[in-house]
Amino acid sequence: MATFDSKLSGVLGDKTAKAFKDLFGYTTVGDLLHHFPRRYLVRGELSDIAALQEGDEATILAKVYSASSRRFQARKGTMLEVVVTDGTAKLSLTFFNQAWREKDLKVGSQGLFAGKVGSFNGKKQLAHPDYEMIPDGNDVDSAVAGFAGLYIPLYPSSAKLPSWKIAQCIDLALTSLDHVDDPIPEELLRKNNYPTIRQALEQIHHPNDLDATEIARERLTFDEALLLQLLLLKRKSELKKLDAVARPYKPGGLLDGFDARLPFELTAGQKSVSQEIATDLGASHPMHRLLQGEVGSGKTVIALRAALTVIDNGGQAALLAPTEVLAAQHHRTFTKLLGELAQGGMLGSADTSTSVVLLTGSQNAATRKDALAQIKSGAAGLVVGTHALLSESVEFNELALVIVDEQHRFGVEQRDALKSKASITPHLLVMTATPIPRTVAMTVFGDLDVSTLRELPLGRQVITTHLVPVEEKPHFLERTWERVREEVSQGHQVYLVAPRISADISEDADFEFLEGTDSSLTAVEELGPELQSGALNGLRIAPLHGRQSSDVKDETMKAFTAGDIDVLISTTVIEVGVDVPNATLMIIMDADRFGVSQLHQLRGRVGRGTSPGLCLLVTKSPADSPARQRLDAVASTTDGFELSRIDLEQRREGDVLGTSQSGSRSHLRLLRVLRDEALIEVARTEAEALIEQGLNNHSLLETALQKLELDTATEFIDKS
Ligand code: ADP
Ligand code: MG
Repeated sequence: MATFDSKLSGVLGDKTAKAFKDLFGYTTVGDLLHHFPRRYLVRGELSDIAALQEGDEATILAKVYSASSRRFQARKGTMLEVVVTDGTAKLSLTFFNQAWREKDLKVGSQGLFAGKVGSFNGKKQLAHPDYEMIPDGNDVDSAVAGFAGLYIPLYPSSAKLPSWKIAQCIDLALTSLDHVDDPIPEELLRKNNYPTIRQALEQIHHPNDLDATEIARERLTFDEALLLQLLLLKRKSELKKLDAVARPYKPGGLLDGFDARLPFELTAGQKSVSQEIATDLGASHPMHRLLQGEVGSGKTVIALRAALTVIDNGGQAALLAPTEVLAAQHHRTFTKLLGELAQGGMLGSADTSTSVVLLTGSQNAATRKDALAQIKSGAAGLVVGTHALLSESVEFNELALVIVDEQHRFGVEQRDALKSKASITPHLLVMTATPIPRTVAMTVFGDLDVSTLRELPLGRQVITTHLVPVEEKPHFLERTWERVREEVSQGHQVYLVAPRISADISEDADFEFLEGTDSSLTAVEELGPELQSGALNGLRIAPLHGRQSSDVKDETMKAFTAGDIDVLISTTVIEVGVDVPNATLMIIMDADRFGVSQLHQLRGRVGRGTSPGLCLLVTKSPADSPARQRLDAVASTTDGFELSRIDLEQRREGDVLGTSQSGSRSHLRLLRVLRDEALIEVARTEAEALIEQGLNNHSLLETALQKLELDTATEFIDKS
């Protein structure tokens, strides 16, 4: 008899066990039994292809008629088109980037295909259907005869391990399974009316009643949520036990000097978050805090105040920014806000003063050498930089606080690389303007404390957003350029953002929604000259993009900030953090090529001064297309939390959890952070209670947790 821990080879034989190991990394019976069906085919409910209607959920029995795959020209990837027929009609099946399925879907072979009927170019089709091929020489009845129930489970599978084969193996494993101890405490199961682990596994692999299967699935999802929350909470409490140097508020220091100079009053939100941070910094355990706040909510000042607190204690602070443009801007802002307080080391400087140093990859050798020396000696209290900060040659005198701006642009590895430059664990503050729903925060950043800035500084202007659908209303584009002239004639400035640098170079390799040929996309280096000699003749226009040297970028940003440029034509290099209050109009070309959060970030560049902001989303996408719906959503609200939901709903789970978690997928097979919000909330509460009681009374749960910790030690989310 087998247990969850039994080796697969003992139950399935070496060859099959190896196939599972190679394909999914499974080694034990428990691993295999947690390989869940994606869906179920209903036996005996087959449709005729000729009778299919768009929108139907259909299962058909059909023969492969033809199969062909082709590469996309403009982007990476392949498209496999398979035509099947059931004698009544033909139907096309499409698969993106799954060319390997061609081996599965041999011409002449028969199978069951299931999915939602869609249409493309007026032809009915199934995109990414689930299917179960019938092995050669078998007829349908004997192929499905192995399945006792009404429902045939369809598993994530491959040519080597087709779904029916997986089903057989799972059957074997289930029958050979001895008594299993349930890791979830009985009272928790009872409270939620959940089945035992064995019942749940039987129900999900051999459904005979879909309602019961649903409950089984919920219970198994809960298992994942609970273990994940236990893991994160445990980490959090372990972090709390680490030692750090306390850096409490010091009256009469730089921070006080800074507050006295500050040209505005902090918002109530800024005050309370600053207070939370001050409390953290004053403790002898490392701060581990995420600050999320709307675009423009004033996170920078909070970060600077935290930095000054540690500098007042003789420590150094490092701020990591995602782009050179942003790092340079932070450096300018800090130097300006600090004034004489940042003249440290200079003759006649104030008694309490420090120096703010910039470090980026493209500085010349002399500047870099000087910066490195100041960082090493400790003369630089505050160091602002890009990835260059992570380089080995950067040594700190006493790194006390690490601040990561625009956290979503960085991986955990980078944060850790910077933290490792301190001799004793530094305090950590990560900031993001991409707000995330609470449960996502709990899942992805479950071991961080979260502060949220909801309000914008007083007097912040409204931003109105309109679509410019150029296909339907070409004259709107002329109107757009007139609008630019109007803004400029009122002394304001304009951002114009395009997806590409030139016809063949884009800023990011990873445009999220890039489809089809690119040559039609607006490019900075084409649109600039065209407007300069045409619609915007006479205005001062300058380009800005990632291919320019940092000197050119720097000069351009300085000139734009000083008002010497009317229209800045750029790529998304200005997406994050750029702050020029006199800019009032943001125009985004081919807006449909950008993600929701990205558009929201871009739009947040205007409305920062005394005049309202206007954002125009120029698009060629047709009315009613998904792209248009996304743009309409962006136009309809400026609530970043609402938009981040829309954004997240359109992404796959792996994207939500981040690449660093992809390795953990094997442990999160059912859990979906948005769909399972309610479940995650419950799991969090239960996990907190369990940790509070101590896990000692729940040895099975403790063992499961230890196993998870061990499994994930190298691969799992370490967001710390
Ligand atoms: P974000 O949170 O997007 O990083 P910033 O920190 O760049 O926002 O702040 C946006 C702008 O608001 C900056 O020009 C900043 O100087 C200004 N600002 C910040 N706090 C206040 C405040 N309390 N009152 C007025 N303006 C503020
Ligand atoms: Mg910012």
